Amino acid sequence: MVEQNLADSVTDERTDLVGMDRADLQAVTEAIGEPAYRSRQIYQWIYQRGVTDFAEMHNLSKATRARLAEAYRIGRPDVSTAQLSTDGTRKWLLGFADGNEAETVFIPEAPRGTLCVSSQIGCTLTCAFCHTGTQRLVRNLEPSEIVGQIMLARDALDAWPAAAENRPLTNIVMMGMGEPLYNFENVKKALSIVIDDEGLAMSRRRVTLSTSGLVPEIRRCGHEIGCMLAISLHAVRDDVRDMLVPINRKWPIKDLMDACRDYSTLSNARRITFEYVMLKGMNDSLDDARELTRLMSDIPSKVNLIPFNPWPGSVFECSSNSQIDRFAKLLRDAGCVATVRSPRGQDIMAACGQLKSDSVRQRRSVAAG
Ligand code: SAH
Ligand code: SF4
Repeated sequence: MVEQNLADSVTDERTDLVGMDRADLQAVTEAIGEPAYRSRQIYQWIYQRGVTDFAEMHNLSKATRARLAEAYRIGRPDVSTAQLSTDGTRKWLLGFADGNEAETVFIPEAPRGTLCVSSQIGCTLTCAFCHTGTQRLVRNLEPSEIVGQIMLARDALDAWPAAAENRPLTNIVMMGMGEPLYNFENVKKALSIVIDDEGLAMSRRRVTLSTSGLVPEIRRCGHEIGCMLAISLHAVRDDVRDMLVPINRKWPIKDLMDACRDYSTLSNARRITFEYVMLKGMNDSLDDARELTRLMSDIPSKVNLIPFNPWPGSVFECSSNSQIDRFAKLLRDAGCVATVRSPRGQDIMAACGQLKSDSVRQRRSVAAG
């Protein structure tokens, strides 16, 4: 199957239908002289059933299937490497048509199964504790490459047809490589397919987008995407957050909290998750915990404490287990919901913040000048 894809991607110049939304597919059916309602059938075959061969689209005539297959294909990203952790976590390194790579991680936590999806190759931001942040942004991922990660995981997990209750894949988190809100349009389009009942059919309550804190786009996200929101807070004072999450210099904690408050008042939004990486001596004092409870006090939210995951060359140390417990206890005693994320897939470098590919921005061609 994988070899098949590798061979296809080199030779196949047909247009990929994956990543197309309902409107795009209507244009396709128009182009081949078919009525508009056919586009809905094709949409369901692609996203609900996961078919990759037009021959399986039984409710289309043979002639229609042949016309489609002439000009179009239903693709998947190529898998450069697939790894399985001793704890059951899986990681796929995906190769795209231009030679760039990004990672996708599946975390089984029965009864849930969460797919951690990348939005960019690399990241323009440089959070001090994040491996992806050491890699220059190569480019945004296309909608086809974002939904393609989920479709490939469904193939590998044998999780078709797509439906909200279909296990093992129950949750999507936009927490892989990249800052999803800096790739707003492509992420929006991809997630519209992900949460469409006739598309990948995930409940919007089970789709979470994590951002380092792009205030204007958080507001847009609330109105235009309407998924669950996670904020990479990581510090409660601006001087510390400026250093850990440099985008804080542009949108400081107060502005970020205002945007969160507004997000939570939108009818479709529920509790916001504040992610907080535990770094020894940096952000893990009980004073920090107290300030965190104050910041959260009027925002429906919960805290997810993330033990720092080291990577080659990282300069931070993870807080001790006992300090993490004390920090969590103070939050809970103050009435906050606080969970501690258990690191998963560390042996295959699949844990939060460990993702990084070898892709490098291509040099501008000298000949082109
Ligand atoms: N760019 C987005 C989403 C991807 S990162 C964001 O920053 O929110 C997903 C989460 O992992 C973020 O909260 C991020 O800050 C955190 N993270 C990054 N590096 C980490 C590390 N080394 N250990 C633990 N968590 C890390
Ligand atoms: Fe980018 Fe998120 Fe890593 Fe910061 S934590 S560098 S925003 S991927």
